[in-house]
Amino acid sequence: MPKHNDLEQKALQIIISYGSKGLLQSELWRKLGASSREGSRIALKLESKGLIRREKELCDGRWTYRLYPKRLPATISTIEDCPCILCPDSQRCGPVGAVTPQSCSKLTEWLMREVEGDKG
Ligand code: SF4
Repeated sequence: MPKHNDLEQKALQIIISYGSKGLLQSELWRKLGASSREGSRIALKLESKGLIRREKELCDGRWTYRLYPKRLPATISTIEDCPCILCPDSQRCGPVGAVTPQSCSKLTEWLMREVEGDKG
């Protein structure tokens, strides 16, 4: 029988693989080969550690939870349009000096678009 931490780790990996669409608790138990009681315990544990969030959902006339990862692994697509990648000033840009990320309007505008995109 797998250890609790192994099951938690496996459960988290499965939940992360479903990304922002999440998956139902019952689907997770089936994939883990766990009982619903064991599955609920794992979900509560992952939630209490701040690794997932659970949202109540009505499915086939019964209330259950959909599980979402709180954090997703970063991918290259998240920075592919960052202005720093093709910036002509990147060689002289640093934490101190005439060109800094703190004072860069291109970077600030890109970050603001990213934040707005996450909200929408
Ligand atoms: S922070 Fe601004 S100036 Fe610095 S590399 Fe990025 S885009 Fe260029």
